[in-house]
Amino acid sequence: MAARGAMGGPRVLLRRLREVMAERVSAQERLDKIVVMIAANMVAEVCSVYVLRVDGSLELYATEGLSRAAVHMTVLRAGEGLVGLVASEAQPLNLPDAQSHPAFSYKPETGEEIYHSFLGVPVLRAGIMLGVLVVQNRAHRTYSEEEIEALQTTAMVLAEMIASGELSALARPGAEPAVRRPVHVQGAALADGIGLGHVVLYEPRVFVKNLIADDVQNELKRLDQSVDTLRASIDVMLDDENVLRGGEHRDVLEAYRMFAHDRGWMHKLREAVMTGLTAEAAVERVQSDTRARMQRMVDPYLRERLHDLDDLANRLLRELLGPDQLPTKSVLPENAVLVARNMSPAALLDYDRAHLRGLVLEEGTATSHVVIVAKALGIATVGQIENAASIADPGDAIIVDGETGEMHLRPPAGLESSYSEKVQLRARRQAQYAELRDKPAITKDGQRVQLLMNAGLLVDLPHIAQTGADGIGLFRTELQFMVASTLPRTSEQLRLYRAVLDAANGKPVTFRTLDVGGDKVLPYMRSVEEENPALGWRAIRLSLDRPALLRIQLRGLLHAAAGRELRLMFPMVAVADEFDRSKELVEQELTHLRRHGHKLPETLHIGVMVEVPSLLFALDEILQRADFLSVGSNDLVQFMFAADRGNARVSNRFDALSVPVLRALKTVVEAGKVHKKPITLCGELASKPLEAMALLALGFRTLSLSPAAIGPVKAMVLGLDLAEAEKTLDPLLNDGALTASIRTLLGEFAAKHGVPV
Ligand code: PEP
Ligand code: MG
Repeated sequence: MAARGAMGGPRVLLRRLREVMAERVSAQERLDKIVVMIAANMVAEVCSVYVLRVDGSLELYATEGLSRAAVHMTVLRAGEGLVGLVASEAQPLNLPDAQSHPAFSYKPETGEEIYHSFLGVPVLRAGIMLGVLVVQNRAHRTYSEEEIEALQTTAMVLAEMIASGELSALARPGAEPAVRRPVHVQGAALADGIGLGHVVLYEPRVFVKNLIADDVQNELKRLDQSVDTLRASIDVMLDDENVLRGGEHRDVLEAYRMFAHDRGWMHKLREAVMTGLTAEAAVERVQSDTRARMQRMVDPYLRERLHDLDDLANRLLRELLGPDQLPTKSVLPENAVLVARNMSPAALLDYDRAHLRGLVLEEGTATSHVVIVAKALGIATVGQIENAASIADPGDAIIVDGETGEMHLRPPAGLESSYSEKVQLRARRQAQYAELRDKPAITKDGQRVQLLMNAGLLVDLPHIAQTGADGIGLFRTELQFMVASTLPRTSEQLRLYRAVLDAANGKPVTFRTLDVGGDKVLPYMRSVEEENPALGWRAIRLSLDRPALLRIQLRGLLHAAAGRELRLMFPMVAVADEFDRSKELVEQELTHLRRHGHKLPETLHIGVMVEVPSLLFALDEILQRADFLSVGSNDLVQFMFAADRGNARVSNRFDALSVPVLRALKTVVEAGKVHKKPITLCGELASKPLEAMALLALGFRTLSLSPAAIGPVKAMVLGLDLAEAEKTLDPLLNDGALTASIRTLLGEFAAKHGVPV
């Protein structure tokens, strides 16, 4: 084997690279010089740089040793040959006899058949693949660990050069370096709306500018000191009282602690410094490898651990750079689209809503808390976009389609203009709905329909006036508990309930008592591991077992409604007895307030949510006790079909617009008529015009919808001849041939009668 470091080893190479990077020469000349220097330094006969292009192929951009004529001519398809393999695996490939490797492919124009040994390393930046750097030798040679390390360090310098955009001038149109390529990802649609704007990273990435060390010993010392500080700070966080109480947060910190003491990680960092990088550049290099692995990791658990390691590296970088060199929270651009791995609802509320056009989350599902807030704020949101925060750069153009769940990063020009049209179209439609705001919802044949809205946070309240809703049909009180970092105090609860009643200004408001547990986790309450949380210890079950929480809430509600109307309902009631016990708690609180001379609500209506199928067979018993029923179709439908509403694989498998569900709903309406008690529906079902039309035809006259749906549903009501709809739906419910969805038939009815759905 040739003497390693014949030309002075990696540190000398790095220093010389720094000089070349600063020279005022063309990009091609710079690359040509770089490959010559690397080849000489590594005592290799060949050194080549391949750059990943927008079309996914790898183009030879410079070479020392292979035929010069092949530069910009040799192009490998994704995954083709050894170079393609390095790119797809994002791992170094070290082969003493390259030609015997099954992936070897021979490109005659390069003249590379005479070379036996091959070392290829990925050119990565923040874990994103930019190209491949290769050295080759005639002899059968195994490159040492140090040499692999040195080549990876060199690749980092190349990554900076590619990322700077300098090479674009060398590319043919359509074959530009992939570094800024458009990215289109299909994720989950979480909050409706279209957002066009520019990327703002929730956690700005730290990019290290000073790559090359002047004094390696000094850099090692800096690294060691920062790691010590990091470890100590994790210990402090773990001792924090809130963390001691357990939960997910603690698990993450424990993982941090484990990684911070991991010898393998430390070893990698030190090795990278030894090749001549500054301590921060070494962290970035190791982090980049972690990110590249993360992006290729299929196992969600392992990916989560790599995320932890990535976070830890970020902390270490911050430690090394000190506050002065860290990215600051920039002023929001006019059209900001936030990109985050995940974030808390409180963090979202910190941004100026007026500038936010969209939100992209790597995680995030329809029921995550931040999504609930995003919806309330009317911010187009998509989730389940893997690696969004790593691939997006601040300022990048981006489109968020909250209708379809798509994210377009750095979109081609044509796409941007077609989306602008879509936005305008939606705005025109919104303007039409706004015109309906003060019109009562009356069908063509004179039936008055109450359109209430669903709410849960202070930010929802302006929607009452904006949409012209007839009131609030479902106030999800747990949202206040879910977005808070500690249990809301009695006074805070009272303040919110008062604010809600004030904002409603005499319009009816139905408060639902705490529906927590299951998947609605409170960060500050110890959660119980359950096999099936949706079927578990949640809502009224939890409230009856831990009555103190419910009693404090009831007291707050009764207090807030002093001298006014109060409407209460209990979630997830499965048997009439649970309702009796809940009413007893209300009685106790009334007694308490009376005894202390407090003013009571003027009227009190206590209702039950119908969301557990058992109630469908206990309607008489429940209607004798309750003042009203409100169908929670989200849960009722999930339990009727035994299909998890939060599981994308099954949540759309069955259609609520099918005979079994509609029959069940009709039973509830009919029972309400018999007992002369109002029946409403407050699940998402009412928020879609076609579904709402079916509900009216079943006999519902009061629906509670998400605020954005009031306009479209009201337009449907105004265009509907309800008697006709009833005439169409009734026979369908008794048609034994209709075993699945009747959506198409209802759609045909709407089309025929010009009902806007
Ligand atoms: C429902 O289940 O339909 C409902 C309105 O309650 P939530 O969506 O809050 O579970
Ligand atoms: Mg529910």
